[in-house]
Amino acid sequence: MSKKEFKAESKRLLEMMIHSIYTHKEIFLRELISNASDAIDKLYFKSLTDTSIGLGKDDFCINISVDKENRTLTITDNGIGMTRDELENNLGTIAKSGSLAFKNENQLSEDVSIIGQFGVGFYSAFMVAKKVVVTTKAYGSDIAYKWESEGVDGYSIEEANRDSIGTEIVLYIMENTEDDSYDKYLEPYQIQNLVKKYSDYIRFPIKMEMETSRLKEGTEDEYETVVESKNLNSMIPIWRKNKNELTDEDYNKFYQEKFHDFEDPAKYMHVKTEGTATYNALLFIPSRAPYDYYSKEYEKGLQLYSSGVLIMEKCADLLPDYFSFVKGLVDSEDLSLNISRELLQHDRQLKIIAKNLEKTIKNNLLKMQKDERDKYNDFFKTFGLQIKFGIYSSYGANNELLQDLLMFNTSFGEKPSTLDEYVSRMKEEQKFIYYAAGSSVSRIDSLPQIELLKDKGFEVLYLTDDVDEFALKMLMKFKDKEFKSASSDDLDLETKEEKEQIEKQNEENKDLFAIMKDGLGEKVVEVRLSQRLKSHPVCLTNGGEISMEMEKVLNSMPNNQKVKSEKILEINAEHPVFESLKKLYGEDKEKLKKYAEILYTQALLIEGFSVEDPVKFSNMICDLMVGK
Ligand code: ADP
Repeated sequence: MSKKEFKAESKRLLEMMIHSIYTHKEIFLRELISNASDAIDKLYFKSLTDTSIGLGKDDFCINISVDKENRTLTITDNGIGMTRDELENNLGTIAKSGSLAFKNENQLSEDVSIIGQFGVGFYSAFMVAKKVVVTTKAYGSDIAYKWESEGVDGYSIEEANRDSIGTEIVLYIMENTEDDSYDKYLEPYQIQNLVKKYSDYIRFPIKMEMETSRLKEGTEDEYETVVESKNLNSMIPIWRKNKNELTDEDYNKFYQEKFHDFEDPAKYMHVKTEGTATYNALLFIPSRAPYDYYSKEYEKGLQLYSSGVLIMEKCADLLPDYFSFVKGLVDSEDLSLNISRELLQHDRQLKIIAKNLEKTIKNNLLKMQKDERDKYNDFFKTFGLQIKFGIYSSYGANNELLQDLLMFNTSFGEKPSTLDEYVSRMKEEQKFIYYAAGSSVSRIDSLPQIELLKDKGFEVLYLTDDVDEFALKMLMKFKDKEFKSASSDDLDLETKEEKEQIEKQNEENKDLFAIMKDGLGEKVVEVRLSQRLKSHPVCLTNGGEISMEMEKVLNSMPNNQKVKSEKILEINAEHPVFESLKKLYGEDKEKLKKYAEILYTQALLIEGFSVEDPVKFSNMICDLMVGK
């Protein structure tokens, strides 16, 4: 029997699990039971159309047994089983998504979150077992197989004997150590408690032989100990229960078990409706993004049940992309059991349910935004990007639905703000919703362009994500107030007198600016004096529709089309540097051009662009220093 190596990534993860200081080793049982339950779900579904399986609804169950002498804990299910290939692929590999970057590998405290993110289910067995033996026979297969592993060293697969379809998992429980006691996993009462704690809602019976003491027949006070098979779980799916029977803890536990998260969800929603569509739904907003959330690998969707039978693991049609982070399930009587994926897409009932759920999610998010702002801020930090993409990619179609969910940092304070809150703070004379974009809040905060806005007491939205400005372009307005970039050339902040004054100065220095523009060539469309600058000598502003931030973003994308924003170099008339420029205009026009380039490059740097020719720039500065 040849031994195979685990794939490298699986091996590393396995190693981390085994050596982790993770204190909740006990969750291994929950993981194995939920796998067993999934497997039964699948075979049960098949059994509805394939009578040769010979199992009725009440025949399906999960069995647990312990053998203290041999230190084994065995979990058996009559689910769908695994073929040889499935054994190989499912148990030989963790996280099939390919290359995984394990950050903070050495920080044990990070283990939990890494492990949690992968939902490594089966492998958690190695937190308590030194050896695991899986014997399984798949539906539709004549041969059974045995998979065996003692952890990181690898695993082996060989043919085995097993009559019925299903899977048996034997865990050889570790010996106690100084720090950890493993004996408890061999105690029926402890196992019962763990099942109650984590797997009570599993829809199939979880059975175990247990000793109970009962009154001896024919006596009144004599007890005897008998062994009987006991149902450990209550089996009622949580979503069928009444909300008032359930506590927060019930929902949180269910979520963790079902969706392999180690953290409570940020929010749960329990929907029970009758009417145009009859269904129960349980929706959860995770506290943290799954590791692959912002990648192509991530699959959105809700579990879909028809009258309690799982018919689809991830029904994508139930969730719009902008709410793709939602986890959960829908159980409806209105859907046919053996409906195909294609038919499902056109199902009217399903569309109605999806629309209703969308409303539910939005309303719950708004409620969280209102009542639990800190939590909402965390939510938005985690998933806000998805909502902003939702606005951008729908070309305005989702504006109404999504705009109230947005949060932005602003020049007014530490805490992010809604657009509505911004508008409510707008000054009477303020015409626009101002925004400025940049790579970080502190960077935007020091942009020369927003000095005057701040000076006048106007609040500025700080856009730090690439998609932000594009999303605002799609919104165009909020409550009839137009969005305006702080870098746009027509901020319209000046009084009539101020405007006339600057026009006059610009006119007087027309030739000076023409020379500077000449020196800069195509880089800018204009050089002129600025009204918006207070202390900084220069800044770049934008004519046209494409802003400098948008230029950066568009040009960083694959297949970029080298877009260019129309840049205007604005000079502060009050700054001493303007006097120097005027002096040079009279004395040395070539040097004036050089100065233009230095000022332009400085403005570029402030904007967060990189310098086009750093060596040249450096030489020019040195020339300046030595008085050339
Ligand atoms: P997950 O459950 O998150 O997919 P696991 O590591 O727990 O990850 O399991 C990997 C896969 O192995 C499962 O998706 C399933 O296909 C298969 N599997 C695990 N346990 C069983 C079982 N008892 N019966 C049938 N298949 C199983």
